[in-house]
Amino acid sequence: MRCMLRVVIAGGAGFIGSHLCECFLNQNDSVVCVDNYLTGTPQNILHLQSNPKFELIVQDITKPLSMDGEVDTVLNFASPASPPHYLEHPIETLMVGSIGTQNLLELAKQKGAKFMMASTSEIYGDPLQHPQDEAYYGNVNCIGPRSVYDEAKRYAESITMAYHREYKVSTRIIRIFNTYGPRMSLDDGRVVPNFIAQALRGEPLTIYGDGSQTRSFQYVDDLVEGIQNLLGYEYYEPINLGNPHEMTINEFAHVINMVTDNPGGIIYHPNNRITDDPQRRKPDIRRAKEILGWEPSTALVEGITKTIAYYKSILSVQ
Ligand code: UDP
Repeated sequence: MRCMLRVVIAGGAGFIGSHLCECFLNQNDSVVCVDNYLTGTPQNILHLQSNPKFELIVQDITKPLSMDGEVDTVLNFASPASPPHYLEHPIETLMVGSIGTQNLLELAKQKGAKFMMASTSEIYGDPLQHPQDEAYYGNVNCIGPRSVYDEAKRYAESITMAYHREYKVSTRIIRIFNTYGPRMSLDDGRVVPNFIAQALRGEPLTIYGDGSQTRSFQYVDDLVEGIQNLLGYEYYEPINLGNPHEMTINEFAHVINMVTDNPGGIIYHPNNRITDDPQRRKPDIRRAKEILGWEPSTALVEGITKTIAYYKSILSVQ
């Protein structure tokens, strides 16, 4: 039987963080959720608050962090993650990726804990290599509007490796590709909540540009499983976690309209395209398959149906 852990989850009130809190609590581990609610919400963790193994610290991780007691694992999932959010909070995004990450690495070093950095496919920028494997260095505009997120995450990867090499911290780096599911905020601005909210209102789906850009969408449960797997391995190089099923935004819009029976159709916003919007994105997940024996198993329609059920449930109580 596996030992019970005490896990610190920074960004625990966010979309992915809240699923991780839930998953560790379900395994009978203790969770310390640290969040300043910049983009996470108290609602995401409301159902966990009565669990005696759940502790909440409302704090910005860019401020020094001290904690009593033992800590086994520190997970850094704190950061605005949707383009509208990080464009709205450019300085906070840079600070949380840099100072915030270092504060958590210091905590892991002090406690002798494992550390996991939630990095992103955005570190590949607008990729010139397709699909993207972990050896690809990326194509990032370091002064563009998206750079506040991309470069913060690139720096976070760099300092994570430095703490591993210099202080022997047992680190992990995951590069998360587009992920969706329940508790992704409806006003998040990303394509999944935008399209579902529009479809549920019977409105046309807003496609930025001509819709030929591609993404590969992963259901959150698959990601959580990959994260849990990786924590069980001593593997320090970055690992892509994403669903390799690539589709154009046009195709994705048709799936949403089909599943929701939306009569609203599609509307194109040619000039609404965010600068440096990646044209193609698809993870090469051979490394995750080889090292972890992991690959996503949730089909798009299945995951989207569960996500829609969640949005319907929150919309009916609002
Ligand atoms: N997008 C869109 N309509 C929307 C929101 C996004 O067409 O209402 C496009 C966006 O331009 C991008 C893709 O969908 O090409 C995915 O965008 P998202 O914001 O979800 O995340 P990203 O993958 O860019 O970080």
